[in-house]
Amino acid sequence: MDYQQILNTIKSELDSLKYTGKVASYIPELAKIDPDEFGMHLHCINSGHYNLGNNEKRFSIQSISKVFALTLAMSISGDDLFQRVDVEPSGDPFNSLIQLEYEQGIPRNPFINAGALVISDILISELDDPKKSFLDFIHKLTGDNSIGINTKVYESEKQYSHRNAALLNLMKSFGNIKNNIEDVLDFYTYQCSIEMSCQELSTAFMIYANGGKKLENSKNIVPPQKVKRINAIMQTCGFYDEAGEFSFRVGLPGKSGVGGGITAVHPGQYAVTVWSPPLNPKGNSELGMYALERLTTLTGYSIF
Ligand code: GLN
Repeated sequence: MDYQQILNTIKSELDSLKYTGKVASYIPELAKIDPDEFGMHLHCINSGHYNLGNNEKRFSIQSISKVFALTLAMSISGDDLFQRVDVEPSGDPFNSLIQLEYEQGIPRNPFINAGALVISDILISELDDPKKSFLDFIHKLTGDNSIGINTKVYESEKQYSHRNAALLNLMKSFGNIKNNIEDVLDFYTYQCSIEMSCQELSTAFMIYANGGKKLENSKNIVPPQKVKRINAIMQTCGFYDEAGEFSFRVGLPGKSGVGGGITAVHPGQYAVTVWSPPLNPKGNSELGMYALERLTTLTGYSIF
C-alpha cells in the first residue's frame, strides 16, 4: 500500500475544501491558534512513518488526554472504577450536565468531561504526585521527556472552568467525587493543557494499535484485555454526540480534543493523528474527520 501517495491525495483534496468550523474560543488562549494549521502523521506497525504538513508542531491535546488518564487509572485501580463511571455513549455534548442529575452523579463514560473528572479524582486519590505521574506516563509512551504543558492554556482554562466546576459540584453532591473540587479541577486542566505533535500522539497511541505493547521494544505497557476495553470505549464514546457519525464515516476507534486534534487506531495496523483547529458544531475537528474518512476509504480498510 502506498500510504504516502494516499496522504498526498488527501492533502490535495483538503486544499480544495473550505472549512466552515470555528476554532474553540471558550478557552481564550486556544482562540489564538491559526485556523489554517494542519498536520497529519500515520505510524504503521509494518512500514513506519508517513507525514503531511506541520506534523511535528505541538498543539493542545485537550480531551485526547482522557485516553491516557483512563489507561493510567485502569492500571492502578480494578474494575470497581466502572462503578463510578459507566461505559455507555452519552449522545450529549462533552460538557453536558443533563444526564448527571437523573443518573445520580454517575457519568455515562470516561471521555465526556464528567467522566474524565471522576478519573482525575481517582488519580488524585491513588497517586502521590499525579501531575508528575501523568507526564511520566506520556514520556514512557513516547520516549520524549520534553513533552509538557502549555502554561498559558492551563491558566486560561482555569479562569473559564465554570461548567467543569458545576459538573464536579453536582457529582460531589452525589458522593462521586472524593477530593477537593479545586484539586480535581486543577489536575484535570493540567492534563488537558499538555502539548504534543501529531507524530508524538501517534507514537503514544501505538500501544492501542499494538495489543498494549510498545512498538520499538515490545515492552508490555497495558494488558491486551484492557486495550480491548479502551478501544471499545473510544469507538463508542470518543466523539461525544458524534461518536456514531465518526464510526459511520471513519470506522476506527479514536479520540478528539478541542485543540483540533484527533488520534485514531487501526488495531494490528497503525495509529494516526490529524490536527486542524476549526471544530464542527459537535466540537470535533472538521477537516480531521474528513481526512480520516478519506484514509479508511482510500486504503479500503477500517475495523469493519
Ligand atoms: N479542557 C477541555 C474542557 O474541559 C477539554 C474538552 C475537549 O477537548 N472536548 O472543556
